[in-house]
Amino acid sequence: EAQKESHGFQTEAKQLLHLMIHSLYSNKEIFLRELVSNASDAADKLRFEALARPELLEEDPDLRIRIEFDKEEGTITITDNGIGMSRDEVIENLGTIARSGTASFLQNLTGDQQKDAHLIGQFGVGFYSAFIVADKVEVFTRRAGASADQGVHWECHGEAEYTIENVEWPSRGTRVVLHLKDDAKEFADGWRLRSIIKKYSDHIAIPVEMLKEQGPAAEGEEEEKKDKAPEFEAVNAAQALWTRPRSDIKAEEYREFYKHIAHDFDDPLTWSHNRVEGTLDYTSLLYIPARAPFDLYQRDASRGLKLYVQRTFIMDDAEQFLPLYLRFVKGVLDSNDLPLNVSREILQKDRNTDAIKSALTKRVLDMLSKLAKKDADEYQKFWDLFGNVLKEGPAEDFANKEKIAKLLRFSTTHTDEPKQDQSLEDYVGRMKDGQKYIYYVAADNFATAKSSPYLEVFRKKGIEVLLLTDQVDEWFAGHMHEFDGKPFQDVAKGALDLGEAETDEDKAEREKVEKDAGALVERVKEVLENRVEEVRATTRLVDSPACLVVSEQDLGPQMRRILEQAGQ
Ligand code: ADP
Ligand code: MG
Repeated sequence: EAQKESHGFQTEAKQLLHLMIHSLYSNKEIFLRELVSNASDAADKLRFEALARPELLEEDPDLRIRIEFDKEEGTITITDNGIGMSRDEVIENLGTIARSGTASFLQNLTGDQQKDAHLIGQFGVGFYSAFIVADKVEVFTRRAGASADQGVHWECHGEAEYTIENVEWPSRGTRVVLHLKDDAKEFADGWRLRSIIKKYSDHIAIPVEMLKEQGPAAEGEEEEKKDKAPEFEAVNAAQALWTRPRSDIKAEEYREFYKHIAHDFDDPLTWSHNRVEGTLDYTSLLYIPARAPFDLYQRDASRGLKLYVQRTFIMDDAEQFLPLYLRFVKGVLDSNDLPLNVSREILQKDRNTDAIKSALTKRVLDMLSKLAKKDADEYQKFWDLFGNVLKEGPAEDFANKEKIAKLLRFSTTHTDEPKQDQSLEDYVGRMKDGQKYIYYVAADNFATAKSSPYLEVFRKKGIEVLLLTDQVDEWFAGHMHEFDGKPFQDVAKGALDLGEAETDEDKAEREKVEKDAGALVERVKEVLENRVEEVRATTRLVDSPACLVVSEQDLGPQMRRILEQAGQ
C-alpha cells in the first residue's frame, strides 16, 4: 500500500474542479477562507472524537491553524492539528463528491461560466478552490490516533489525476501546500495573508496563526535567533462568533460565518442571533440562505443545524430542531442542556429537543415576518426561493398555522400576474361585502389557471380568486381550511355558493337560467348517462357554454395527478 498510486477523479469531482478553476478566477482570495474553514472543521471533529477518546488530544491539546509562506518558492502552507485523514478518507474526501444528485445537477449547467460559477457555489467551493491560485497542491495528513508511518501524501497538478502514497508524518493533522501559479504569487506575502484572514476568518473559533513579524535584526542578534523556535501569533479574534454579544458583531462577520457553516458561496438573506436563558439555556444563530440548493426536494438531502453542546461541536445536520417545512434554514445551535455524549438517537427522545424545536420554529417564523415587514423586495426573494416549501407548513405544523398563513404569498386575479406577491391579509382586505369564502382555482400552470372558465362569474362580479399552480397547492389548501375565519373554497368544486354575495338580482337570474335550461339539462343527462354524477344549469359561466365540476368530496385534479405519479 505504501507505494505511490495514480488515481483519476470521479467524473463529477473532475467537472467541479474544472469549473472552479475556470470560473472563479476573479475571486481568487477565497481559497484561504475555504482552507481555513476546513481546518477549523477538522479541529471541531477532533474535539468531538476526543470526548470519547481523550488520548487523541494528549500531546498536543491546543488546537490551532498555522499559515506560512515562502516568497522565493512561491508557496503557501496551511497546517492544522485537527482530525487529519486516513488514506481512504483522502481518496473519498478529495477525489469524490458524495452528494446525491450531483451528476444530474452538473448536466444541467448552462456552459455560461458566469452563471455556472454562481451555481457551483452551492457546493461550497471548498477544497478545490486551492486550484484557483495553485497549479500544484500537496496534502500531507495523518489521522488522529494513527501512527507516524500512517501519514499520507496526496499531490495533484490540476485537473487530470492525483497521486497518493503513504509517508512518515510526525504529527496528527493536515498540511496543505499550495504551489502558486505565476499570476497568484502576490499571495505569498505576510501583509496580504493577514488582511485576508482578518477579512474572512476572524470568526473562526481557534487561533489562525502566522509567524510573529520581526523587525530588522540588530547587530549580534542573528546567531541567537537561529536557535529559537519560531514564534507564532494569532491573527484572528479566535472566539466562536455566536458566543459574542450581538452588539459587538458586524454584519460582515455574520455573513462570513454563514459561509463557513453553510458551505455557501453567497451571502445569506437574513439571520437571527439569540441567547436564551431560563428553563432552557441555549444560543441559536439561524440564517435564511439567498439561494435554494438543488436538492431542496430530495428526501436524503442534508438539512438541519450545526449542533454544539457547551461550545463543543457535536454534529452537522442535526435535523431534530426544525420542522421539515423549514429545512432551508441553516445555522448553529449551542445548548447547555443537552449532554455532551448526545447522539441522534438520544436527541430524538430528549424532552429538551422538542422544546427547543418549537422555540426555534417560532424564531424562524418571526424572523420571516420581520423581513416581510421591513423589506418586501427581500421577502419576495425568499418567497420565490422557498415559498413552496413553506406551503407544506399548515399540514405539518398545526399549532403555527395562522403564523405561517400570514407569510404566504399568492398570485391572484387581483394582479393577474404569475408573480406570487399577494398575502391572505391583502385578499381578505379586498373581500366583497358578505363574501364568506376565500376562493381559489387550482391548475397546472398560470395560463390555464388564469383562463379557467370557472373564473368567469368571479371576474364578472369582481370577486378575487387565488390562482394556485404549484404542485403542493391542493395539499396545502386541503390543510389550510380557512384563514381569519374565512374557509378556502375551490371554485371548481361542488355547487357554486357565492354566499351572501348573491343579490336578489343574482337569485332571479339563477332561477331563470335553471328554468330555461331544464330541457337541455335532461337531454345532456341522457347522452352522458352514468359517465357523470349530475348535470346542472349554472350562472358560474359567462362566455363558456359548459364546464366540468368535481364534487365537493372528490380530489382535485392536482391531487389526483400527484397520487397517480405516486402509483396509487
Ligand atoms: P466541505 O468542507 O464542504 O465538506 P471541502 O471541499 O471543503 O467540502 O472539503 C472536502 C472534505 O475534505 C471535507 O468534508 C473533509 O472531510 C476533508 N478535508 C478537507 N480539508 C481537511 C482538513 N484540513 N482536515 C481534515 N479533513 C479535511
Ligand atoms: Mg470546506
